[in-house]
Amino acid sequence: MHKPTLGIIGGGQLGSMLATSAKKLDIKTVIFCDDINAPAQNFSDVFIHGNYNDKNKINEFIEKVDVITFEFENIPFETLNEINKSKPVLPKPSVNRIIQHRLAEKDFINKLNIRTTQYTSIESKSEIETVQNLLPGLIKTVTLGYDGKGQHRVNSIKDLDHLNIDFSKQYILEKLVKLKKEFSIIITRFGDKKYEVYEPIENFHEDQILKYSIIPADLSEKILKQSKLWATELSEALKYIGTLCVEFFLDRNNNLYVNEIAPRVHNSGHLTINAYNVSQFENHVRAVCGLEQIQIKKICNAKMKNLIGDQINEYRKKKFSKNEFFFDYLKKEVKLKRKMGHLTILKK
Ligand code: AMP
Repeated sequence: MHKPTLGIIGGGQLGSMLATSAKKLDIKTVIFCDDINAPAQNFSDVFIHGNYNDKNKINEFIEKVDVITFEFENIPFETLNEINKSKPVLPKPSVNRIIQHRLAEKDFINKLNIRTTQYTSIESKSEIETVQNLLPGLIKTVTLGYDGKGQHRVNSIKDLDHLNIDFSKQYILEKLVKLKKEFSIIITRFGDKKYEVYEPIENFHEDQILKYSIIPADLSEKILKQSKLWATELSEALKYIGTLCVEFFLDRNNNLYVNEIAPRVHNSGHLTINAYNVSQFENHVRAVCGLEQIQIKKICNAKMKNLIGDQINEYRKKKFSKNEFFFDYLKKEVKLKRKMGHLTILKK
């Protein structure tokens, strides 16, 4: 069988891990990224540096590949749609149009009768005064926010006086959930009703950044079933091809909510590299390149620790046991709150 060359937009750690998995499957990768220092160039076959609106560079990229995917969801829909006219983009661009907009995403989820936090669109300060039933809440930018960026906590209307929110942008106000747990489900969809679903992964955040992920997640059978069902329903409704992550909240009364969908491989799934026979990255490559679907099997329980900022320096010098797997993303600069690497510890 002719193996396609895979184009990946974005050159961070997710791009690196996708390229590494592709290599294992004998698939060539071309990374396109706007960062000249993109770490994924250390792992891909070809690297193209260019802005995401540079038509010439995009054409150079398109010519070199057979199928295109991406490692982050905030590429403009128009760009992906244009590319899709020449070579297939998977998951398809319409998925991004929904998911990169928090309101469209939540409307879409609710239409499927899947619960999200309560929310409303906010375009001015005075609008917040009319929806005080959603306080305490979080104000989030509708587009372009991750790891808590672009988010403000509002306990009462008084907080708005010192929050300095730029209302030239559109926001969503979400009621704060009293969280008992956060977890995620990673699913790779290959086609109609054909998917591999990883078991729920329990996630621990600090300052809204993921610190640890653990399997097995400590969840009741009922929540386990419900969350798996919702993850498959979401991927089916999106007619998604590739790996997708659904992030869940469980509140103190055991109510389940979908927080958000990441239309890509996800940080919480890094432990699948060592804990499963087929990782989320390999499955993504398999699905978008039309390769065989292999039934996934857990090999071991695991804990993944993100190495953030200068934590990496200590780990670069460390010796590891046989059950510990250290990943250095080879980022040129250590920055505060930047994900620099991770460690996966396999457990019986
Ligand atoms: P997000 O970027 O929306 O995924 O939010 C990042 C993190 O902020 C989540 O993983 C939660 O820890 C926290 N968070 C976001 N929205 C809410 C909410 N409505 N209620 C409670 N915590 C939240």
